[in-house]
Amino acid sequence: MSDDVRAQARDHLWLHFTNHAGIAAGAELPVITRAEGAYLWDDKGRRFLDGLSGLFTANVGHGRPELADAAAKQIRELDFVPIWGRVHPRAAELAEALAARAPGDLNRVFFTNSGSESVESAWKIAKQYFKAIGQPGRYKVVSRNLAYHGTTHGALAITSLPPVRAQFEPLVPGAVKVPHTDLYRAPEHLGDEEAYGRWAADRIAEAIELEGPESVAAIFLEPVQNSGGVLPPPRGYLERVREIADRYGVLLVADEVTAGFGRVGDFFSINRYGVVPDIITAAKGITSGYIPIGATIVSDRVFEPFKKKENTFAHGHTFAGHPVAAAVALENLAIFEREKLNERVRDNEGAFRATLEKLHDLPIVGDVRGLGYFWGIALVKDKETKEAFGARERRGLIDQVLAPALLDEGLHARIDERGDVVVLLAPPTIIGQEEFDFIEQAVRAALTEVSGQGYGRD
Ligand code: PMP
Repeated sequence: MSDDVRAQARDHLWLHFTNHAGIAAGAELPVITRAEGAYLWDDKGRRFLDGLSGLFTANVGHGRPELADAAAKQIRELDFVPIWGRVHPRAAELAEALAARAPGDLNRVFFTNSGSESVESAWKIAKQYFKAIGQPGRYKVVSRNLAYHGTTHGALAITSLPPVRAQFEPLVPGAVKVPHTDLYRAPEHLGDEEAYGRWAADRIAEAIELEGPESVAAIFLEPVQNSGGVLPPPRGYLERVREIADRYGVLLVADEVTAGFGRVGDFFSINRYGVVPDIITAAKGITSGYIPIGATIVSDRVFEPFKKKENTFAHGHTFAGHPVAAAVALENLAIFEREKLNERVRDNEGAFRATLEKLHDLPIVGDVRGLGYFWGIALVKDKETKEAFGARERRGLIDQVLAPALLDEGLHARIDERGDVVVLLAPPTIIGQEEFDFIEQAVRAALTEVSGQGYGRD
């Protein structure tokens, strides 16, 4: 059966972000056939701890009968109607539920089907908002280096990763780039954490000045940046970005696609920092990934001009706010509340950190950073000098040793190499100390294998 699956995939399936040459040449594709709780099984019966929650999705764990039942019940009741000029109960209920959990006066929900569509929609909302309030010159967006905000043309312009952009230039004009933050790599001359945060935030002000404030619509950022290997903000940074946005009359968009819905112990990661954005983009964890839905959540102020007769938002997608997805999302939120999963993540944060910090005794581990159930273990060639692994040795280190070793240890994790080489962990919120220990042991064994193969200096 699975040999057939591999042949079918090799001959007909176009895998995402995957080079097909290796597959055509006979490299064996992993086939995952089953999932339950925090675990995945492959077609050979091997079990893996899902240290990536699918793709930052299965935040309540896999295989929940409650979510299956919610989908089945909704299909029997009302399979589908669009939310174009009419409504169905689940979309309205979910909009209210998301607004109730969003910070400040973010009370209006525009549904989408994915993170990219949420980001795309946020940019279009920002553009039309400024046209509607008499500032038609504002269309540009500021985003940070290394950041990933999606792959559709607008979202891709906001994404700052040259390898995923290059083939698709020219992109949507008006995307301006500023430095990301990485406390481990913060230049020493910039001073302490707060001074570094001030410096980084001020680069946004500088970019806005340079472009001309009257041309800038929004700042897009992830409160905890995923790409680059889990980069929490320096102390004071988000507060200062909020001030800068206000100073220049620019909207602040928090991209919560990855860090939202329990990942760091709140429905929205920006709540951990007490900052209120103007727009939130979300997807993935809204349904714990059981079925696609995304959302762009905007403040009362941003929605205000769209209440007027002359301002229809001429944008939408057939499946956005799908009744089945909305029903699953509502049950997913109910699970979060019944099982107090956000509280659980915050209560366990210290224990997870302490367990992973044991890895500091390995010569290859330069940094352990993160919060909640969102952690990055950054690998370096030389702990003293923080020398990073170079592009050429990364292929051998990652492809030949680290990736297979983690799987051999029974752990699905991501290896992010967009900045440093980072073992990235984002497990389901249901795990506890036993699984933290398993993860630490698995990463330790894999990294010991990497060092044993001559990567890094003792
Ligand atoms: N924004 C962020 C922060 C993301 O991490 C992602 C996807 N990983 C996206 C947007 C795009 O989401 P999607 O893949 O659902 O289009």
